[in-house]
Amino acid sequence: MGNDNSSSNTGKNGTTQLDKGLRFVNSMIMKTKVDYFESLVDLHGLIDLMIAKGLINSREFIQRREMIKESLRNEFARDRFQVELDPTPDKYQITPSTVDCNQRYHLCKARCCTLRVTLSSQDLDEGIAHWEYASPYSQATNEDGYCVHLQRPENTCAIYENRPAVCRAYSCKNDERIWKDFEGKVPAVET
Ligand code: SF4
Ligand code: SF4
Repeated sequence: MGNDNSSSNTGKNGTTQLDKGLRFVNSMIMKTKVDYFESLVDLHGLIDLMIAKGLINSREFIQRREMIKESLRNEFARDRFQVELDPTPDKYQITPSTVDCNQRYHLCKARCCTLRVTLSSQDLDEGIAHWEYASPYSQATNEDGYCVHLQRPENTCAIYENRPAVCRAYSCKNDERIWKDFEGKVPAVET
């Protein structure tokens, strides 16, 4: 088929589809900001009016506001609405853990690769480790909960040289989710 993306995505004046997309996103952000500002003005006006008319007590309002804020904060954390980014500047400087994985795969079934891994901006720049679109920027997983980069049946990592910082630094030695007895090679009961 030989489709040339560079020419088909560039207009007469050099405007690319990416430029248009960014302009659209920027205009949507501006619109959201204006809507947010207007809603804030309405809300503050309403609260001021209700306090002035004695319909609500400002101290009780502040207490109630703090309660709601706390419960919403927990909800946001649980549902992972927030964008997470691992702050590690350079994963290649990390000294990898020394667990003898090759002697243990048949027992642990690489259970560590079901744990949550957050990517860093270095990972995003590389574009090698895949992330979950619905939960940026955590490592993408398959339906069975295992990382998409885990190779079966070997239980080895397909992006081992470029694996994220969390994977490099992690050691399962004292992790009770993985081992009931690390030295005795007794895996923990799966929950
Ligand atoms: S659970 Fe431990 S031994 Fe098993 S693959 Fe992961 S790090 Fe290696
Ligand atoms: S990137 Fe590799 S080491 Fe890290 S969770 Fe995925 S398969 Fe496991």
